[in-house]
Amino acid sequence: MRATIYAPDAAVVDGRVLRNPGLLVDDRGVIQHLDNVSALTTEFPEATPVSLSGEMLLPGTINGHNHAFQVLMRGMGEDLDFMRWRSQVLYPVSERLTQQEIYDSARLAYWDMLRHGITAVADFFYLNDQGCENALAIARAARDVGIRLLLARTFYDWEGAPLRYRETPQAAHDNTLLLAKRLSQENLDPWVTLHVAPHSPHGASKEMVESAVATQKELNTYLHIHVAEGQYEREAMLSRDGQTPIQWCQAAGALGEKSLAIHAVWTDENDLEILRQSRAAVVHNPASNMILGDGIAPVIEMLRRDIPVLLGTDGGCTNDRHSIFDDMRMAALLQKVRMTDASVIDANTVFAMGTSVASHALGLNGGRLLPGESFDAVSVSLDDPSLLPGPANLGHIVYAMADTAIKSVYVGGERVIHEGRPTRFDPNPLIQWSRNWQTT
Ligand SMILES: [Zn+2]
Repeated sequence: MRATIYAPDAAVVDGRVLRNPGLLVDDRGVIQHLDNVSALTTEFPEATPVSLSGEMLLPGTINGHNHAFQVLMRGMGEDLDFMRWRSQVLYPVSERLTQQEIYDSARLAYWDMLRHGITAVADFFYLNDQGCENALAIARAARDVGIRLLLARTFYDWEGAPLRYRETPQAAHDNTLLLAKRLSQENLDPWVTLHVAPHSPHGASKEMVESAVATQKELNTYLHIHVAEGQYEREAMLSRDGQTPIQWCQAAGALGEKSLAIHAVWTDENDLEILRQSRAAVVHNPASNMILGDGIAPVIEMLRRDIPVLLGTDGGCTNDRHSIFDDMRMAALLQKVRMTDASVIDANTVFAMGTSVASHALGLNGGRLLPGESFDAVSVSLDDPSLLPGPANLGHIVYAMADTAIKSVYVGGERVIHEGRPTRFDPNPLIQWSRNWQTT
């Protein structure tokens, strides 16, 4: 692959819209220069020029929370509350999935994410009955589709959950270290980074969380934990332990600079202070929280405390879309209506939550189209009616853009979606398999 000079009509660079920029991307897929196109072509005559006339380049979006296999449950549990959805849909379907189905469902979910402009995803994965084999299946799926995967390997021991989720703290530790080894042996590391994920205060015992924290330190990586998603968890923990879920997580050592608190909906002022002091980030899942009737996270109060807030779609059956652009819009609208103030949050803030803030919080090299960063990018057609009248700005992207505007998606300089179609694999057999999956 030679160096390439991309020449779009516009690009969003570090939160600003630049008109007619040139981006030189080297043969490793890293942005080297940002300048005007004629200066770049003069200085780098060997580079291949690529005209993106009529298009705007955006940084790829980052999905901070997902469970890929849950895409198979789309349409199965609509309009159920969380407890009934979990017992009637999630658990029975989880128990029947084969390893091939885990692989195929991940390909389906990742393809759907990529075509919506998601170039990296944190997949919180908990089908651990095969040690590390099932996790390797989703890692291969990420490589085969072409999305960056942060594989958040779950630590889970609540006895009410399906057997295949559960391990002892020691087994979870050992299997996670084995997985790290297997990922590097299979050369999956360029696509996959291993994180640890004690499930939640209700899904993992204190010993299990401590095992995850120890494993996180051994691997020098990141830790994800669901916390304070539903009101029930807060009430149950206050009466059981006299602690809020956030206080419990802090006491178990799960909140630190490399921690991601998933949801954090039912949090009070004291909880937010704990999050701020711990320097943990929050992954906000606005559409999922709405679909499940969880409540509205106090995002404005988090932002006022400089707590990093990123966005997640959550599973494909609790959103039900795999689009961070969509969740940018949802996050903004929710806070505006909650605070009855349209000026309380703006397009730039939610755009950063889905790109640069997420990239920083997850240790990724991307999220901004700047020299030194990986060329993970989305090109959108400025002729799409949802972006007219122009010139399009960030407000168009966050509030108006339809997914029909997305033309191409690049990960590490490689075009992995072209005109809405994947370039790394033939989707037709996957479409045939999944079309009637729920009746088989
Ligand atoms: Zn989740």
